Amino acid sequence: MEKFRELKERLRIVYDLNKAANVLRWDQTTHMPPGGAASRGRQIATLSRLAHEHFTDPAVGQLLEELRPYEESLPYDSDEAALLRVARRDYERAVRVPSAFVAEMETHLAASYQAWARARPANDFRAVAPYLERTLELSREYASFFPESRHVADPQIDLNDPGMTVDLLRGLFSRLREELRPLVRELTSRPAADDSFLHRRFPVERQWEFARQVIARCGYDFSRGRMDTTLHPYEISFSPGDVRIALRAREDDLGELLFGAIHEAGHAMYEQGVAPELEGTPLARGASSGLHESQSRLWENVVGRSLGFWKFFYPQLQAVFPEQLGDVPLEAFYRAINKVEPSLIRTSADEVTYNLHVIIRFDLEMALLEGELAVRDLPEAWNERYRQDLGVVPPNDRDGVLQDSHWYDSLLGGNFHGYTLGNVMAAQFFEAARRAHPEIPEEIERGEFAPLHRWLVENVYRHGRKFMPLELLERATGRPLEVEPYIRYLREKYGV
Ligand code: ZN
Repeated sequence: MEKFRELKERLRIVYDLNKAANVLRWDQTTHMPPGGAASRGRQIATLSRLAHEHFTDPAVGQLLEELRPYEESLPYDSDEAALLRVARRDYERAVRVPSAFVAEMETHLAASYQAWARARPANDFRAVAPYLERTLELSREYASFFPESRHVADPQIDLNDPGMTVDLLRGLFSRLREELRPLVRELTSRPAADDSFLHRRFPVERQWEFARQVIARCGYDFSRGRMDTTLHPYEISFSPGDVRIALRAREDDLGELLFGAIHEAGHAMYEQGVAPELEGTPLARGASSGLHESQSRLWENVVGRSLGFWKFFYPQLQAVFPEQLGDVPLEAFYRAINKVEPSLIRTSADEVTYNLHVIIRFDLEMALLEGELAVRDLPEAWNERYRQDLGVVPPNDRDGVLQDSHWYDSLLGGNFHGYTLGNVMAAQFFEAARRAHPEIPEEIERGEFAPLHRWLVENVYRHGRKFMPLELLERATGRPLEVEPYIRYLREKYGV
């Protein structure tokens, strides 16, 4: 099929340009000397612009049109049909947003981010409020390019998690909030776990070596990846054959590198597990941001904070840090890494209260977009929701409404839901894997992760973007998206 080959070749150029930009981004945040900053930013922008121009070339739209009958003749599950389906969806979205709008948005968001970076340490919400007002206008304008959407946030949500909507997430989150609030009250009425020993001095070289062994054992393939130091941890892919992670360590916080490594390795194993034959196509990456987060959280929390996992790894960790952990029994360590405590800061929250931080942000973001909440009233609304949901009130905006960069460097609508969606889906995937292989928990206690890893490759990783996120979830677990497995997981783990 000549036209199909031509389309694939055009898409491969787009893929290569985007991945080349990723190599520059990786270098920018790991090894680049400060002097490279200005040119590097421009070089990344150049590659991204070229990728966008190649992709939105009318010839691509023409080919997609001409290939409709071919697509209809193919089995739905085939790589070819999925490629045409996904490329068409991406194309139709990309050509709807005028490039003048994109340029204006990028300029505004860059200025907004700079304003936030100054306002946060100064605890000055009023300095960023005008920027946020403008971001809100631009977010509504973005939505106007998708007039068929039911809700003004739907286009942003769909961009991150195709097929998901405000209606669906609201239902899910309100149900989850109802379950979580009493659960958090119950858990925090118990005496708090002692985690002071996690803050003893742990030489970082030994931490790196241990983290490396843990994630290699879980299934992160170092022959197709590497681990570097950075400021804000992330995973980045150049192809399924080269998926890297960048992390940070703190001498006085054992969890920072260890759980950061397991989390990012979860993202990376997903990308490494994409079927090699999808390489070079728009299908060769994770299905959505929520799906991606489900894989990182499955490894970090469901597996990496389980008792079975540490039955295997704790003796090794004690052998690496005998002075620091020799006097700490496994049970105490397990309780410390699972300490539940309402707090002000999302990024350091435990796995239970974490979702309340996300739901607060989601609800406030929706209220802003719907015009129910004015930007000037945001700090007060934020503090009030923290009081209601977590029983804590930020002493200042720095640890309140200014704490995350998201609202100051992105359009509003799709910023936070993926994190909680990830937690919910992680439990559903793990339950399905256990149903298929009831021996998985005992295997984990023996440090055998291959059966779980294989199930994930087979049911999630290898498909890349072939299926929509909810479709993939249902194919893998036999169930639509639901909160029950997650609630069951929390109740079982914390005994409530
Ligand atoms: Zn993540």
